[in-house]
Amino acid sequence: MEEFPRLHVSSHPAVLHKLALLRNEDTPPKLFRELVREISWLLGYEALLDAHISPLTVRTPIEETEGARLADRIGLVPILRAGLGMVDAMLELMPTAEVWHLGLFRDERTLRPVEYYNKLPDSATVDLCLILDPMLATGGSATAAIEVLKKWGAVTPVRIKLVNLIAAPEGVRTVTEAHPDVHIYCAALDRQLNEKGYIMPGLGDAGDRQFGTGKSG
Ligand code: URA
Repeated sequence: MEEFPRLHVSSHPAVLHKLALLRNEDTPPKLFRELVREISWLLGYEALLDAHISPLTVRTPIEETEGARLADRIGLVPILRAGLGMVDAMLELMPTAEVWHLGLFRDERTLRPVEYYNKLPDSATVDLCLILDPMLATGGSATAAIEVLKKWGAVTPVRIKLVNLIAAPEGVRTVTEAHPDVHIYCAALDRQLNEKGYIMPGLGDAGDRQFGTGKSG
């Protein structure tokens, strides 16, 4: 992992257990969605490790004590459509987070991501952005999403994190070279991409498997 100092691959046994179930081609969409949600929760927990807190005083039934509250205003940016399945888990962890959907598709002529849906408010309203996309494959969409957020003014100094279930080295390299300030959290760093741009061994098409829309690989 020395090549990618900003990549955090979870080694938590619960994540590894759930990831193997997620990869299994026989896992039906309902269970697949549940696993996406559960793994997202665990990765979100890890990604929030350095979030800022502020002190508060709380009264228990016994006495007053010192507590903490999450001080960062958090923005969740799911990349449509596969990132949608990660949102609920993140909102459980961070109920006050704002959610902005971002739609990107790949222009087959230029091979560049094109933005087709963007619900960002006019000016930055958060301190920490988490971009949610189950698969970091070529890194094209992730890089484009980061560029959109940076242009929009997402916090100075920029605090943008990428949360993926599975990453390919090609994607991590692309993101890291373009945006060395962005940390990436994932459950696995897989071997490589195949000729169709799927991650090997991966899990197939994360959108299709969540929404039951086809067989892929
Ligand atoms: N997107 C997917 O859903 N799966 C891959 O393997 C790569 C990109």
